[in-house]
Formats: sequence, C-alpha cells, structure tokens
Amino acid sequence: MDLFDSNAADRTNLPRNMIENSMFEEEPDVVDLAKDSNTFPAFSTLDPDEVAFEPRSSRLLVRGLGENDMDDDEEDCESSARLLGMSFMNRSSAHRSSSSPYIRQSPPRTCSRPSACTMVVCVLVLVIVASLVMVMYLLPGCTFTRAGCPKSNKTAPLEPVYPNSTNGELFPWAELRLPHSIQPLSYELTLTPDLDNMTFTGRTVIIMSVLHSTKRIVLHAANLNITKAMFKLGDVQARDVTVLEYKPRQQIAVKFSEELKTGQQCVLIFDYSANLSHTYDGFYNSSYTDKDGNKRVLAATQFEPLSARKAFPCFDEPSFKATFLIRIERKPSYTTLSNMPQAKTTPLSNGLMQDEFEKTNVNMSTYLVAFVVANFTSVSSNATGTTVSVYSIPEKKEQTGFALATASKLLQFYNRFFEIEYPLKKLDLVAIPDFLAGAMENWGLITFRETTLLLDSNSSNLEKQVVASVIAHELAHQWFGNLVTMSWWNDLWLNEGFATYMEYMSLQEILPNLDTGNLFLSVRFRAMDKDALNSSHPVSTEVNTPEQVEEMFDSVSYEKGASILLMLNASLPQEQQFKKGIIRYLTTYSGSNTNTEDLWNSLTLVSTPLQNISEMMSSWTSQKGFPLVTVSRKGDQVTLSQEPFLLTSDNTTQKSRLWNIPITYVNDSCSLALECRQMYTLKYKTENLKVPESVKWLKLNYKNTGFYVVDYGNDGWNALIEALSENIGVLTPEDRASLIYNIFALSRLGRVPFQQVLHLLNSMSGETEPSPVTEALLQLNSIYRLLDKRQESGLAARMKAYILNHFGSLMKSQSWGEEQSLSKQELRSALVSTACILNEESCTAQAKSLFKKYHDSNFTIKIPGDLQQAVFTVAAQSEDDWKTLLDLYTATTYDAEKRKMLKGLASTQDPRRIAWILKAGLNGDIIQTQELPLIINTVCNGFAGYLFAWDFIQVNWDRLIEKFPVGSFAIQTIVKSTTSQFSTQAHLDQVQAFFSSLKQRGSQMRSVQEALETIRLNKRWMESNLKSFGKWL
Ligand SMILES: [Zn+2]
Repeated sequence: MDLFDSNAADRTNLPRNMIENSMFEEEPDVVDLAKDSNTFPAFSTLDPDEVAFEPRSSRLLVRGLGENDMDDDEEDCESSARLLGMSFMNRSSAHRSSSSPYIRQSPPRTCSRPSACTMVVCVLVLVIVASLVMVMYLLPGCTFTRAGCPKSNKTAPLEPVYPNSTNGELFPWAELRLPHSIQPLSYELTLTPDLDNMTFTGRTVIIMSVLHSTKRIVLHAANLNITKAMFKLGDVQARDVTVLEYKPRQQIAVKFSEELKTGQQCVLIFDYSANLSHTYDGFYNSSYTDKDGNKRVLAATQFEPLSARKAFPCFDEPSFKATFLIRIERKPSYTTLSNMPQAKTTPLSNGLMQDEFEKTNVNMSTYLVAFVVANFTSVSSNATGTTVSVYSIPEKKEQTGFALATASKLLQFYNRFFEIEYPLKKLDLVAIPDFLAGAMENWGLITFRETTLLLDSNSSNLEKQVVASVIAHELAHQWFGNLVTMSWWNDLWLNEGFATYMEYMSLQEILPNLDTGNLFLSVRFRAMDKDALNSSHPVSTEVNTPEQVEEMFDSVSYEKGASILLMLNASLPQEQQFKKGIIRYLTTYSGSNTNTEDLWNSLTLVSTPLQNISEMMSSWTSQKGFPLVTVSRKGDQVTLSQEPFLLTSDNTTQKSRLWNIPITYVNDSCSLALECRQMYTLKYKTENLKVPESVKWLKLNYKNTGFYVVDYGNDGWNALIEALSENIGVLTPEDRASLIYNIFALSRLGRVPFQQVLHLLNSMSGETEPSPVTEALLQLNSIYRLLDKRQESGLAARMKAYILNHFGSLMKSQSWGEEQSLSKQELRSALVSTACILNEESCTAQAKSLFKKYHDSNFTIKIPGDLQQAVFTVAAQSEDDWKTLLDLYTATTYDAEKRKMLKGLASTQDPRRIAWILKAGLNGDIIQTQELPLIINTVCNGFAGYLFAWDFIQVNWDRLIEKFPVGSFAIQTIVKSTTSQFSTQAHLDQVQAFFSSLKQRGSQMRSVQEALETIRLNKRWMESNLKSFGKWL
C-alpha cells in the first residue's frame, strides 16, 4: 500500500503499554469456563493450537509458576486445564487449600515427647511452619481480609476465558490470532452487489485441509449477516451447521462433536448479506459526478490490512494463503474487474450478468483479493506477455497515457531485475474516484487514487514524479508482498520498506530525469525525525490488536525500512551482492511467507567470503531509534563513538544500545566521487581509526546513505564550515543537505548552539541546489511556525526576516515561466512557496498577477505546475478569488491540480472559511472526505486555523474514527497535524486531557504518545532557545 502524503505530513506511532496490556484486558462478556465447564464439553482433547499459539500466556505462566515450583504433572495439568477452559491457578490453589487445613490443624505441642517418630514429625512441622510463614510473607496483605484481594492484572491472563458468542453459547477460541489447525486451500466467492441499495449478498465456499486434529474451525467475518452455513467432510453430503460469532474479535466459528482428523479435507459454505461499506475499507461504495452532472456509483475494495473479512468469511491473516475463484453478478450497464482475467460472462434469469474470473494461478493472502464494479474505460498495451491496462472513469481516459507507459516500463524492469517473471497474465491499474490510501497493490488489480495515477498532457515533471513513484512502489509489491509475504504484520516493513526502496531504485534506473534521488534523501531525513522520538518503535515490532496493525503503516515501516536497505546495499563490498541476495530470497520463498531473519539469511548466503548480514542488520531492525556518532580527532587519530540519539531521555530508555554502523567518510583530499568514500564498521561504543595528519576535515556518512547523525565536535564543525565558506563545491549536494539536517538535529538535542546552525547556513549562502535549500527552508520554516504559534511575534518577525534575507536573492532570481528541469522546478517550488507564505511582496504580487491572467483567460492559460500551489495559496487569501477558486475546484476534472486548489482553499486565513472547509471535508459532498487529512494539515500550518482545527477534531472525533480507523495513517496524520505546533504547558495539558478521555476510541495510539512527546520537546527547545534567538537572529 502506498500511504500518499507520506512525505508531506509525517506519520505517527503506539504506546508500549498498549502492546503489553491489550491482551490482558478483561472483556465484559467473557465467561470463565472453570465456573461453567459443563456448558462447553467439546474440548476434552488437546488441540496443538492451544499450545503453539499462546506465547504470551505461556510466558506469563512460566513466570507465575516459578514461585510455586510447578512440576511436570502440574504443567500437564495446567495445559489440560487451559484446554478444558479451566484456570490452572484455581485448580492449583484448590490443591493447596485441600492440604492446608491439615497443616493448620497440626498442633505444635506434638513435639512435647521426643521420640524418633516425633522428631521426624517435629522437623516436618517445622518445615511446614517455615513454609507457611514464607507463604504468608509472600501473599499480599489483602489475602485474609474480608474483601479479599482485587483481581490483579498479572493473574488475569492465567485464566483462559472463552467469550460468549452473540447467541449466548461459548465461543470456542480466546485469542486474537486464528488457530493453525485448519489451512484454507481455495475460496470460491460469488458476490451480488446491489448498487441501488448499497447492499450485497454473497456465497463463499472454502475448501480446507485439517493440519492438526480439532473440533472447531475458527475464521474471520465482520459485519456479515450469515443466513446459512453448510459443512461437508470428504464425500459425505453437506449438512447445515451453526455459526458462532464473537464480534469484538471479528471471528466466527463452527464446533463439531467429532474430531476433524489431520489430513482430512473439508468444505464450509456460507450464504450471507451485508451493506456496502460507507468508509474506505472492505467492499465499499464510491461515487462521482459524470460530465452530464449525473451521480454515478461504483463499488471497490480495500482489504489491507484487516478488511477482507468485511466482504467474505475468510482466514484473514497474511500467512493463510489460498487460491481464489471469483464471480460477480452485475447489472448489464456495469463492468467488473478482479485479480484475474475474466473467464466468462453468463446472463442470469433475473436480468443480471454473472462475470466469472479465472481461478488464481498463485496462492494469495486475503488482503490482496480485490474487485471493482463500475463503468470504467481503459487503455492497454502488452509488456513481455502481460496485458497492462489503466482504467479510469470515461471522462478521464485521456489522463491514462503516462501511467500506462510507465507501468509497462517498470514491469519489464522488475521482470529483469528480480529474474522472476510477473506471474499473472494481466495487470490492471485502476483510478478509483474516492480512495483513501495512495494506492493498493492487489495482485493483478492495483487500485489508486486518481491523483496518483492520472496525469493530463501538460502536467509538470513534479506531478510525473508522484505518479511514477506510486506505480513503481505498487509494482515492486507484486514481488515483495504478493509473491513473498510477511508472515504477520510485525514484519510489515518487509513489504513496505522494500517497495519504498525499490520505488526509488527502479526510477533512478528507468526514469532518471524524474530525479527521485532528492526525494529519497528528504524521505530519509523525515524518517529520522520520526525515529528520534522515544515513542518510535523497532522496524520489526510485535503487534496484536487491529489498532496496532493499523499503526504499523507508518514512517518506520516504510521510510526507515527503505533507508536501512539503502544503507545495507551501499555498504556491501561486492557489486550486485544485494541484488543477488534479494533474488535468492524471492526464489527461495516464492509463494510463501517469511520473517525478517529469512531476508538476512538469503543475503548472507550469497556473500563471499561469508559475511553475517543478520548480525549487522538486526541491530537496525530490532531496536528503535538510531545512533549519534561523535567524531573527535587528535593528529592522525580519529575517535568514533556511538550512543543512541535521544531527544527525550528517560530512565526506561536503554542508553547502552549499540548499532553495527557501516560508517563511510570522505576528506578534503578527495570528497566528491564514490571512489573517495572510505568505510569503517563501528560496532563498539568507541573505536579509533587513523587518517593522514595532513587531512583538514572529515565528512562522515557519504551522501547520507547511512541512518545516523554525526557530531563533528566544535573543531570538526568549524573546519567543515571554513571549507564550505571557501568553496561550497567541496562536498556533494547530498552531503551539504546532510550537514544541514545533522546540525539542526544536534541543535534540537542541545549538542550545538543555534549560533553554530546559523554559521553553517551562512557558509552555504551561495547554495543553489534543491536538496540543501529545501532542507534548510523546511527546518527554518518549522521554527518560524513554532514562534508564530507561540505568539512570539518579535522573534517570528526576525526569523522571517532571516529567511527572506538569506534566500532573498535566490528567491528573486526565480523565473515565473515554464521550467523544464525537474531539479529547477523543485528548487523554485520550495523558494516561491516559502516567499509567498511569508508574504514577501514581490512574490505575492507575481502570484496575484499570474492568477489574474489565468482568470482573464477563462482559465485556459497554464500556470506552471510547480508554481500552481503558491499561486492558488495567494489567490485564496482574497475574498473574491477564494470563491473563484472554489468554483474552479468543483469544475476541474484534473485531480493533481484539484488538490493544489484545495490546499489553496484550506490555506485561507478567514476563520469563517476555515470552519466551512473543515466541515465540508467531513461531510464529503463538495469535497471528498478522503481529503480531510490534507485539509486539516493545511489549516494547521496557518496561524488563523490551527487552534480551530484542534477544536474541530475534539468535537468531531467520533465521526473521524467512523471514517478513518483508529490508528490508521489518516488518523495519525490528523493527530500529528493538529498538535505538532504546540509548545506550551497549557496546550500539553489540553492534548493530554483530550486523548486520555477517549479510552478505547484512540487514547492508546502511538501517535498520541508521539504528539505529547513532540509538544514537550517543542516546549523545551523553545524555552532554552528563545533568548539566543533574540541574540543571533
Ligand atoms: Zn506499499
């Protein structure tokens, strides 16, 4: 999946305590089987799932039992107890209590007549008394009070409790993850959507194999009204069965009186009905207005991560791969699409047509199943035996050309690069009018937002960059994710980190003019921003609850994942080693599921001499955060030391964490070409290396391919600043951007004074390359916004003056005409946007005049794509032009332009309009609700709306989480946008109070922890720097 806006708005992360506690929370309707074991006699035998898939409970049991010296029998007893649904603790305490009366009744005076026998008894009694004292000592004080002890959280999970199904019977499964006793082999889905009434009916036939003998089948279903269920074992006639449902976990189950035996095949058939979803997941409805003004409806799917269960009953976890045969019944006026090519169409007696698709020739995870019912048109071409098609609503057919050409090129590239042919006969790319993510990699049927797939004929290269990147990402998933899939969402980065890395790598090869190198560099900086927070998480993180799974779709999985792959590839000694390793990985695990270790093993196996990749990389995937490398030098000796880069340092953080860091460095004698780069692996806290004494300066992390921050110490920074003042060209643009990022990061950390930041920027006053300029602008703008929002108007004005002064001549030198070079467009877009937002007069005058020309030409002249945002933003500040822009927004069919207009509209500083646009985004009539996170983000950047937006999300929280799931990327963006510019105690208190009041409706989200941490950091940074700003700006 592509998250879209991922670079524009940073994402968020989930508090550790939620991961730890979520499984232990008692649910209101659970029943302890120990109290009611007769009601559920079906579990007399051992099901291997119970033992194999309760690691959490098992771990706790061992801990609990250590105090009581459980022997083997008791352990068996405990396993059986759990299987019987009985509490071990209850049973074992029953054992103890049956013996304790005897102990208590033993009178101490039995020791009065010494004999061998009584001596033995005395010794025994003494031992018992001592034991009793110890037991009393160990038992909490409340044990013998009338009220007894409150039920502690620690002991709660020791009681395996089965919940009540909706019909009151006990539900035969008590875990979030499904048992592994049953393996689905194939699904046959027949769906009949009714787009007039927004409902659908379905029949799902699942053929399964019994892997371990069991008396139940447990699978997922959510919001499905199952009207009939049948079960068939072997050749025996199918019979009706009762389906039990446990809604809180979206699970259904069928219980059997006789055991299903290992190796048997069986079939479940479900008939059901449901509403088409009105959110953005499951089988959902979407609509658009056609060129004649008629509302057209369509239905599409978005199943990743947990929503296939909303369209059909299924084993909805990525490791349950199976084949799929899909039939869709539709009105003759509609067409349908699915993962596979259409096999046949049959007219039905009720006037509908039934489209049947070929059975998938690959085993596929449920989250990759997809279908669309719409009136789309398409363009197609053939790329190495695969038919590639791009679908859109008919009005936008002209906008599909670039996507088709790019997808065909990329498919050929990946076929060649991975040395594994794309396995399906067709590849459809479909632009869905209302779609929340950027795109979704469903096998053979990739769905996109219109903005990420469609381009008109005079679109700018920057717009092409967006579309090409998203297509490259989704196509890479056809191998990374679809062919080889992570076993569970904890390793989502194997999908997303890889697809993100491949997106930049492939485009640098096949469309070098799109300059995705700069984009990837800024992506790495943003990934570090996020990972520098204590609320971040390791790349590979345990996840259980749906909210935790949703929250894995964040910057760490995508951007840090991609960054560490780049670091690895850049540090491997042999060319092609990385490529060989991933080919080996894809070949070895084709069609199956993997975890992180499998990837490192594949890369290790192709290294000669053997190099332990796992040893190096596990420090990057199993620990959150990244290292700060400090360089100090005495003559020819350079000392490198590492420590975690910790913006928030608290007692719980392990300060002794170490990384295996592939350090690269260049020096003044050779600093630009790849051949200049030298390597050193820093494994320990402090290590030394030698450089010639004549070396004047060192720059570490060549082109910023490593995921670490470097502090050169006062002397080191001064030497670099001096060298850059003489000649900015002594370092590559990437290295200059890297120094800027590093010095701002160190300033936030309190390691260098803000004055040093300004020294570095001043040494680069002649800078004209997009990467360093955009990074400096971004950092300075964010400080300006913090000052502005804190109402430090004097300092904000000084910061503004600094920015306009420092970049003034570069800003003024920008032309306002068409510009072909992408890097010049990037540079111009950043400079002009900043100047106009800061109300620089000549910028706003130019923008106004360009909008007037545009208006006067009846919107026929073209505003250069990279300038549109600035022009629309300036126009939106005037009352009349805001209205014009709104009319234009409603009439425009080109979505890339439409989005820029929307951002313009949302940047208004008129409070009434801000209120209107937020409401319109939530209602979804004039502005699609998919755009609400963008609107909120834009509103929050301005002074007039940021407090308003904060109020808005508090008032409308329930409606927001109805539209966007708790933990989803959209919600992460909204939380971050509305809170990240607060820097006062009062706001911190407000944010804390609001989110803690939400309870299950979002208080546990990692993004909330991140928001609170960010406000604290802003507050600290502002308080410690306000004085120095006054002095230095
Ligand atoms: Zn993806």
